[in-house]
Amino acid sequence: MYGMQVYDWKKIGLRVGLELHQQLDTKHKLFCNCSTVLVNEPESRVLIRRLRPTLSELGEVDVAALFEWKRGRYYVYEAVEQACCLVEADEEPPHMLNMEALLTAIIISLMLNARVVDEVHVMRKIVIDGSNTTGFQRTAIVAMGGWIEDEEGRVGIQTICLEEDAARKIEERGKAVVYRLDRLGIPLIEIATTPDIHTPEQAERVAYKIGQYLRMTGRVKRGLGTIRQDLNVSIKGGEKVEIKGVQKLELISKVVEYEALRQLRLLEIREELKKRGLSKDMINYDIIDVSEIFANTKCKVIRKVLKKGGKVMALKLPGFKGIVGKELQPGRRFGTELADYARFWADVKGLFHTDELPAYGISEAEVNRLYEKMGADPSRDAIVLIADEEYKAIEGLKSVADRAREAFDGIPKETRGANPDGTTRYLRPQPGAARMYPETDIPLIEITPELIEKAYKMVPEKPEEKYERFVREYGLSDDLARQVLSSYRLDLFEYLAEKYRSVPPTLIASTIVSLLKALRKDGVPVGNIEDSHIDQLFNCYVNGMLPKESFEDVLSWIAENPECSIEDAIKSLGIRPVSMEVVERRVEEVIQAHREEVKALGHKAFKRIMGIVMKEFRGKVDGRIVAEIVRNKIKELLNQE
Ligand SMILES: [Zn+2]
Repeated sequence: MYGMQVYDWKKIGLRVGLELHQQLDTKHKLFCNCSTVLVNEPESRVLIRRLRPTLSELGEVDVAALFEWKRGRYYVYEAVEQACCLVEADEEPPHMLNMEALLTAIIISLMLNARVVDEVHVMRKIVIDGSNTTGFQRTAIVAMGGWIEDEEGRVGIQTICLEEDAARKIEERGKAVVYRLDRLGIPLIEIATTPDIHTPEQAERVAYKIGQYLRMTGRVKRGLGTIRQDLNVSIKGGEKVEIKGVQKLELISKVVEYEALRQLRLLEIREELKKRGLSKDMINYDIIDVSEIFANTKCKVIRKVLKKGGKVMALKLPGFKGIVGKELQPGRRFGTELADYARFWADVKGLFHTDELPAYGISEAEVNRLYEKMGADPSRDAIVLIADEEYKAIEGLKSVADRAREAFDGIPKETRGANPDGTTRYLRPQPGAARMYPETDIPLIEITPELIEKAYKMVPEKPEEKYERFVREYGLSDDLARQVLSSYRLDLFEYLAEKYRSVPPTLIASTIVSLLKALRKDGVPVGNIEDSHIDQLFNCYVNGMLPKESFEDVLSWIAENPECSIEDAIKSLGIRPVSMEVVERRVEEVIQAHREEVKALGHKAFKRIMGIVMKEFRGKVDGRIVAEIVRNKIKELLNQE
């Protein structure tokens, strides 16, 4: 059902803005001299903090920050000597802004046609999840107002900022959230586009292209976790929804599509509620204890809660029959949205609703009694149940009621997280505007004409110039050169073409572009294939351990076993290189056996001999090498005459 349908995105009024965060590969962190390498050794020091929601200058407190505070969370920070100092621990003021990072940000700004500011002012942006020891993130606008070309039209660049990365979340233990400080302070560039993107495919393409520009500088970090994408998505008649943390570029179009679908369905729900003549004020906080109905239930979850002294609490949603069970995204219903709210605001594990009952061990008789006790109409109303400690269940159902009321407005303005399958989940309310204030510990930095001049000289060649060079120097076909250019492994191609001079660049390009695309189509998780795997692949090829005919098998295997090496793949797949002597001997035999034919046909016998020999060696020896041997042997035979 999903992905099959073609939506008219223009008609739906889809608008998408991208926010890309990319770690810069600088020697030092943004505000201190620590290295920018993550460390996995045991921590040398641990700090424990409880963050207080800070008042902005206007005296406002962020709702979301206040909520985290109320939940009683505290934060544990692990420090490692190599990558942390007193700055990360917030025991010493930040040092001067890292000029290497600033230079990179200016280079990227120039590539994206943006206007570089005259002065860089570092600001503080409140963070609410404890991912920074100070309670805020330092950020600075470097440029504004650029653009990037796309086949569906130019997409504007709103701002380009330099920021410090947050601490790395390791785990949650009860109310404690454990962070590691090594990542805190690594320079990030944040590029935000205007919401000029109108299709899911365009969103993915533009993200790829910006990523490509970033990598072309050769000044950014590579690999999983070094680039993160946030999206904002809206459709006509709705609110702008933020989606955080899309880690894989390949997921962007799916996330946008699923999110747009969710919003469409929410608007449909709004219409349906109107059609049913319902209104917001019909939903109240009348939460009722229905535990006695489940005294002998077969539902394991409820039994466990009751045994521990918990309660089953229920809320009636008048007129919501069929709506709670309505699917918004694959595997996610309106009921899932309700559950997300309850989970966030009351820390409950989940909920049941009558659109999916009887199920989970809850019987029809129990459902009937439930309707009776709630004074609800089984043909019209829906009932939501939460089994937990009583106060939590009540709080949870209150937030369910709040969320159900919002259904009358359509799409709530919220921050969501991307799931690995491309669906999204509720994360928190969108923070208010009162989140930024000046960082007084860092003086402003003037961007001089000299610095801009220096950056200009470091701007890498444009994609069009690269294209010319790929065709001229590397002999790529027009089509292949274009595909390599738009590939997000563009820099890998250039790197490998330089490193393995004996390998035809066309083979490298077609492996990176065509082969990976074909594998992806076949459902192979090519996103798991690291650049280093492809590097190893060519290393094995050059060393005669791997014929190119086996690339497909080896890459498919490594995609499923990304923690292994290409040599592991070769071993596991039982690929044994055949020695050249064996090939030569076999070619000789075949030619001798067809001696008269070869003599009669001359060089035209090549195809026939090749066919016979390759039947044995396909997948084991590179066809090019066999062809050369066959050609030479035929020549030898003909010359003997
Ligand atoms: Zn430091």
